[in-house]
Amino acid sequence: MPPAEPAAVGGADLHVHSTVSDGTVEPADLLAEAAAVGLEAIALTDHDSTAGWAHAAGAVAATGVALIPGIELTTREAYTSVHLLGYLLDPHDPGLLAETARIRESRLTRAEEIVRRIARDYDLDWDDVLAQTAEGATVGRPHIADALVARGHVPTRSDAFAGILHPRTGYVQPHYAPDPLTGIRLIRAAGGVPVLAHPGTRGADRVLPDERMARLVDAGLFGLEIDHPENRPDALPRLRRLAERFGLAITGSSDYHGAGKPNRLGERRTSEDVVRRILAEGTGSKPIRP
Ligand code: AMP
Ligand code: FE
Ligand code: FE
Ligand code: ZN
Repeated sequence: MPPAEPAAVGGADLHVHSTVSDGTVEPADLLAEAAAVGLEAIALTDHDSTAGWAHAAGAVAATGVALIPGIELTTREAYTSVHLLGYLLDPHDPGLLAETARIRESRLTRAEEIVRRIARDYDLDWDDVLAQTAEGATVGRPHIADALVARGHVPTRSDAFAGILHPRTGYVQPHYAPDPLTGIRLIRAAGGVPVLAHPGTRGADRVLPDERMARLVDAGLFGLEIDHPENRPDALPRLRRLAERFGLAITGSSDYHGAGKPNRLGERRTSEDVVRRILAEGTGSKPIRP
């Protein structure tokens, strides 16, 4: 008899953040939370960092939840940020390491500048942000939001995003990010499987045009995260047509950030078939199974 196939990983939430970026839950604790909501697998996809993988992997045996190593790479198309999920990539790939280091560095400089601007009008300093940020974490607006909450300027993180940290308010500025084509090539070159994250959050009219999508597909785009709580309903028909036209896989994920965002872990999941295809295509690292 041939050796048994490894058990297929099913019931997977493929987009989850930890304290290594802007989530509020430690990587290992995410696995315990995943077990509690009946997930068989999660992908840890911190912004521009793979630093949480080892911690999360340590919790696989005890929780029985498989870990698919991942990342959410920040890219930018014109003035719009485009997030790319990458699964099973090589965390030591030099191209990826150099680019993520550059993005994280620019995120830090940008966050310091945002805080300088806010400090002209509100009682807030950089130490307030550091107090909300785990050592070595990828810094983002959420950490500034938490500092604003701690200082009593806003009641919740989401209120900070709707007000002081909204781009129209003028305090926020962008940070360095490569373009999406470069991002897809980087993920593929590192053996990873790239999926366009939450492609419909700005509505049908702001979904990438077909010609642009075609170039991303040529570069190796694997799928679209169509099933995401923040994709706007009016964007879904167009996204489904794009998936059909270009033969892209459809993923479903929560984009859980712990207590910082209303998204609930496991509220959206990816089909077993698509998970199997991702596992078959990703060559840069291996899933950690219980
Ligand atoms: P930044 O990367 O600095 O531009 O900040 C945007 C990030 O904040 C995205 O990853 C969002 O998912 C995240 N985020 C976390 N909590 C919230 C929230 N309550 N409202 C909006 N965005 C949030
Ligand atoms: Fe985030
Ligand atoms: Fe995102
Ligand atoms: Zn995310």
